[in-house]
Amino acid sequence: MKEKIIALSGVSKTYSRGGESLVVLDRLDLEVARGGFCALMGPSGSGKSTLLNLIGGLDHADAGRVEVAGTNLEELGGSALAAWRAETVGFVFQGFNLIPVLTARENIELPLLLAPLSRKERRRHVDHALELVGLTDRARHRPSQLSGGQEQRAAIARAIVTDPKLILADEPTGDLDRESADQILELLARLNAELEKTVLIVTHDSLAAARARRVVHLDKGKLVDRSEAALPQGGGN
Ligand code: ADP
Ligand code: MG
Repeated sequence: MKEKIIALSGVSKTYSRGGESLVVLDRLDLEVARGGFCALMGPSGSGKSTLLNLIGGLDHADAGRVEVAGTNLEELGGSALAAWRAETVGFVFQGFNLIPVLTARENIELPLLLAPLSRKERRRHVDHALELVGLTDRARHRPSQLSGGQEQRAAIARAIVTDPKLILADEPTGDLDRESADQILELLARLNAELEKTVLIVTHDSLAAARARRVVHLDKGKLVDRSEAALPQGGGN
């Protein structure tokens, strides 16, 4: 296997609700190679978002080791974790999460405001991201003036504007029509193939899973890797 960008071992996460504890992740292991394109599937409530949030450093595990891009996330907290996230991970969500009062360009620029860049450099990075997602002619539109597919492309541009190694997408096509969903999947596949971004996508969409080079299923707190069954040539990415 190639160098791993994600290495989880023995990861557990339990939530307590009304005095009862709910084991969401149960001593789970996962390895994803750098440059991989992996789909994470599983029933609603099975812990897919919880797992993605642990990998992206948005939440901490109760037990186990979460190593992403060479960093043990349990050792980082507060501002160090925020800085690691800003540099390493681009997040894409089902609901786009764009800021309504800002234009597409301004939304995409946001993550760069934390970086030590001049206005001119920021502009160059934003222009490049807009071009990558095919939104150059919509840069001055607000989210309400964009279609759902365009909003998600703007959100992807925002996720990649800092040039992160890893893209974490939580049901990115869940709110889109088939044609827009296909464009988003095509875009993620291109970012993976051409820019060598590692992509981990949570999805219910069998077409999304078909595009991924590996599919893992989360059920009852454990992962089942079906990539070997699905890919007899053994696409172990
Ligand atoms: P999925 O993304 O697969 O639908 P989630 O990771 O969102 O699942 O949630 C897994 C389970 O954990 C669900 O039963 C959910 O209700 C519960 N859960 C998620 N976040 C919290 C939280 N902050 N507090 C309590 N329970 C939570
Ligand atoms: Mg979820």
